[in-house]
Amino acid sequence: MAPSRREAAPLKQAAAFAKRDAGMRLDGAGRPVPDGLLASMGRRGMLGWSIPEAYGGQGRRYADILTALDAFVRGGGRPGRALSWAVHLIVGKTLIAGSGTSRQKREILPAMASGKKTVSIALSEPDAGSDPKRIRTRAARSGDGYVLDGEKAWLTNGPEADAFVVFAVTGHRGARKGFTAFVVPRECPGLTVRNAPPLGCLEPAAHCSIRLDRCRVPATAVLGREGRAWEDLSKPFRVVEDVLLSGGAVPGGLHRLLEHWIRGWRASPGKDAVEAAERIGEAAALLETARLIAREAACGLDGPQGDAGVERTLVSLHLTVKRCRESLRAAFEARGLGDPDALGIDVDTLLALGEPASRARRRNWGYSWLDGKERS
Ligand SMILES: Cc1cc2nc3c(=O)[nH]c(=O)nc-3n(C[C@H](O)[C@H](O)[C@H](O)COP(=O)(O)OP(=O)(O)OC[C@H]3O[C@@H](n4cnc5c(N)ncnc54)[C@H](O)[C@@H]3O)c2cc1C
Repeated sequence: MAPSRREAAPLKQAAAFAKRDAGMRLDGAGRPVPDGLLASMGRRGMLGWSIPEAYGGQGRRYADILTALDAFVRGGGRPGRALSWAVHLIVGKTLIAGSGTSRQKREILPAMASGKKTVSIALSEPDAGSDPKRIRTRAARSGDGYVLDGEKAWLTNGPEADAFVVFAVTGHRGARKGFTAFVVPRECPGLTVRNAPPLGCLEPAAHCSIRLDRCRVPATAVLGREGRAWEDLSKPFRVVEDVLLSGGAVPGGLHRLLEHWIRGWRASPGKDAVEAAERIGEAAALLETARLIAREAACGLDGPQGDAGVERTLVSLHLTVKRCRESLRAAFEARGLGDPDALGIDVDTLLALGEPASRARRRNWGYSWLDGKERS
């Protein structure tokens, strides 16, 4: 699929940065030596791709970001870097630009666009993940503001974040919890940051957990509608993240695995060329299908309906990408090989990130068939 003219420039830039990321140096303990790559991406405006032009960004579409993430990982950029970059772009576009007040946008977005600032999404909790039924962080009204108490974990970009978008329970609507999101500055009294040990994969993305002990924030810290943060912010964020990672970064990684396998075959062909060709043909076809579905999903996000309606497309995307991954794993195993370097583990971790939501979406789709709401 040839890129459109609009996609060509970001694609070229992403591929160029992939080469720099691939060449990153490691210290004696295998930890990456800081190379200023993110700062350099910031200087070139790449951290502002998703930020509206009015706030110093480039206002790019999700579809442009999708193909750029794919090209970045395919070109040798690490999936962990893609995760970190994608989270920065999604927080800027989906959360702050999408739901911020003019003041919040003025204060946060220009600094995010230039890469001087990043903001982390703080939704998941230890022992709860992102399951709304089990999330416990609370925000209670106090004077003209709120007091937040709780704990959040696995926060991508958290160690460098200047602020956190914290999701807290502020009441109930019927049997359901009502969530409100707050922009909490890192220096807010009562907020402590604990950097997480490296995940062992997805380097150089850095993670942390935070504790909120009677953190007092003004009412102006509320992001979006009070009590509606789950449906307005968390769900769209997860959908966009899944489209861009499962549909962009992961296919880029699968393509690299495919190319690696083919290089190995050409260097030392196996005996059964027919079986190998079928296996590789299957992986290539599934990869192409995944990219088509991902593109449709990203165009849906860019359209007037936003994330509504994209959840089902995501079910198909996830299943196709997983199937492609299995074909490739079988192809490597058939040659008695494991995945090269950490790429396979990184791809699997990114896929696992979207798996619980994907299973829930699949289930909901299944129920609608069982209840006779789908036309058979
Ligand atoms: C590499 C990495 C980066 C991460 N980055 C962040 C981050 O920046 N911020 C953050 O807050 N967390 C982050 N997380 C946490 C992540 O979102 C999960 O909460 C965590 O991995 C725990 O996963 P889980 O298996 O409990 O499943 P979760 O994905 O947390 O899901 C738990 C349950 O919630 C329900 N559920 C989830 N989504 C849906 C849906 N769409 N529809 C219906 N039900 C649903 C399902 O019942 C599901 O089983 C990260 C995790 C990893 C591994």
